[in-house]
Order: sequence, then structure tokens, then C-alpha cells
Amino acid sequence: MKSAVRPAARMTITQTLSDLVAFDSVSSRSNAGIISYLERRCTKLGFKVDTFPHIDAGGAEKINLVARSSPESEIELALVGHTDTVPYDPDWNEALHLTEREGKLFGRGACDTKAFIAAALMAVESIELSELEKPLALVFTCDEEIGCLGAKRLADARAFTARHAIVGEPTSLQPMRAGKGYCLAQASVRGREAHSAYPQLGASAIFRAARLIEKIESIAEQLKNDLRENFDPPYTTLNIGLINGGSAKNIIPGECRFTLEWRTVPGQNADRVPHAIDRAIAEQRSADADFDAEIQVERADDSFETPTESRLVQFLEQASGKSSGTVAFGTEAPSMIALGAEAVVFGPGDIRVAHRTGEFVPLDELNKCGEILRQTIQEFCSRP
Ligand SMILES: [Zn+2]
Repeated sequence: MKSAVRPAARMTITQTLSDLVAFDSVSSRSNAGIISYLERRCTKLGFKVDTFPHIDAGGAEKINLVARSSPESEIELALVGHTDTVPYDPDWNEALHLTEREGKLFGRGACDTKAFIAAALMAVESIELSELEKPLALVFTCDEEIGCLGAKRLADARAFTARHAIVGEPTSLQPMRAGKGYCLAQASVRGREAHSAYPQLGASAIFRAARLIEKIESIAEQLKNDLRENFDPPYTTLNIGLINGGSAKNIIPGECRFTLEWRTVPGQNADRVPHAIDRAIAEQRSADADFDAEIQVERADDSFETPTESRLVQFLEQASGKSSGTVAFGTEAPSMIALGAEAVVFGPGDIRVAHRTGEFVPLDELNKCGEILRQTIQEFCSRP
């Protein structure tokens, strides 16, 4: 068994990252290429690999991969990394060619999140898989950047259960044990069109929307009373980011639509905002009998929180030398929690340089991540 492992073990973490970055795995494209590369690497290491393919809304083949060290149903530790990236500027010629300068590795996905995948492979290659006492899994997902769709599919399919999961994301190697949720809704307010010279013949959807929005602003104020320390800001935020209404300057507008986005703190019911808005609509109706409005929730991604006392949080705090924090961006952690895991978001690189031209991961953080993941595997999977 050992000799089969060694050739892969000779590959450096930089070479692995360079291979991963060379796959153009922007979310709009198929991730089949990078997945078959990862499948080969995992199979060579002795993992049993399952793939979960499907065709996405744009007709591209998308695949989630779950590689297990042993067939037991419950995984002790899952290392989770998404294979897709955000788009890149075609003029950025390092995007698919990992380039090293001054201790930094540049390329699309170099930081978010192929660095974590390379570190996970390095960690696994430095241990003897057959000697693990408890099941380890590598989970590589699709479509994280467009709404964590791949991880949600795994959770919906109950593809596995896990006790602990490290979700790779650039956190500069700080363990992140909680994150806000993300919800999105479309609101539409209807009125009645009429010539603007005769407003009494119609009803302005825009005036109605304005009254409703004023109520929504006071809902946003009330949300500030439900505080969670350790978040910035420490409450659920709410935003109306887009508004659209009317058809001409001299027509009483018949419709007004706006988008509503809110980011929930852990422990707060995701329905709280839509329920408050429904109440606001009912109030408007009591003053204006044919007030006509509705909101349609399009997305409701859960917040997540893993307790500070969690063994995984405490181990990663000690291994990284950093106390745990919270993230403001959406991650696959809620899906891992749905699969039973205590989840922590953790990885090399800084989220502030991700998603932009010139994205990079510092080489020392990349190596350190591989070492911390190796220690975590030893801690969680090496003892009976
Ligand atoms: Zn990411």
C-alpha cells in the first residue's frame, strides 16, 4: 500500500495548487475536469471516491465528490473545499498560470479556495490512510460561488453524515465558528394606471411602495435590538438594493418592485423579516383597502454557529494560535451542520484579496494550513 502512495507524496503543495489553478473552473462552466483530477489523486491515496453529477440550469455538467478513507456511514472529519471560482478578467494572464512572487502565489482561485484543497491533499499525503482509526473524508463541491448550490445538494441528498467539518475559505488561518445567514426577496406593489392629470382615477404603486419602505426601514431599526456579540455589526442587517417602478412620467404608476436582502444573526428565525413585512402590508391595507403588495422569498440561507466549547473550534484555536471569530460572507458551513457536523470555516489567504484580479495566497500560510490539517486529522481520526 505504502509504495502506491509515495509518488503522489513527492508533489509539492505549490505544484498541486498550480495544477488546480490551471483548470478553468468558473462557476458557469463544468467542473468535470478538476473533479476527475481530484478523483485520480484521491483514488491513488486509497480513498473510496463517490461522485454526484448533475446538469445545471445552464446545461453544464456539475459534480460533487466525496472521498472516504473507510466505508463507515458516519465521517469523523470532513475537509470541504469548493472547486469553482468567480470569473476572471481575460486580460489577467496569471489567472490560470499560478505565478510566485515574493512569497505569494497568484492566480484565480489561488486563495478562494483551491489553496485549501491543495493543503488538504498535502495533509492527507503526509499520513498513512490505512492506519486511521476513524473515517476521514475529502469533500469537493461545485457552485459555491453562486449560492453554495453544490453543498446544498449534498445536504438535501443526505450524501453522508459527519461529526466535524472544516469548510475551506480564506480566513487567514483564523478558525471561524459562526456566520450570518443570507436571505433575498422580491417585493412587488401594485397600483392602478391612469393619466397623471387625473390621479383620482388611479392609484400610485410608487406612493404605496414608499409607504411600505418606510415601514421596512423601521423594521430594520427594530432588528438592531436582537444583538449577537462577535458580529460586525452585531445584528441582522436589511437592505433594499434595487427599486423599479412606473412606465412614463405622465402615467400614474401601476407597479413598483424592489429587492430586499437581509443577513440574519444565528438563533434568529429566518421568517422574522418576512413576517414583519406581512404585518406591515396588513397595516397598510387597513388604511387603504385595495393596497396590493406581496413579497416572494427567493433565498433563505441559514446562519450557523458552532459553540466555542466545540472540540474542533478549540483544537483549531490552539493549532493556529488564533481565537475563533465570525464571518460576514456566505459559506457551505450550514450545509455541513445540516449533515450533522460541528463546522468551522478555516483556510489560508485573505478574503479581501479573493474575488479580484491579483488574487493570491501567501506560500507560508498555504504550508501552515497543510500542517494544521495534518495535525487535525491525527487528532480526530488517529485514535480509536
Ligand atoms: Zn470560497
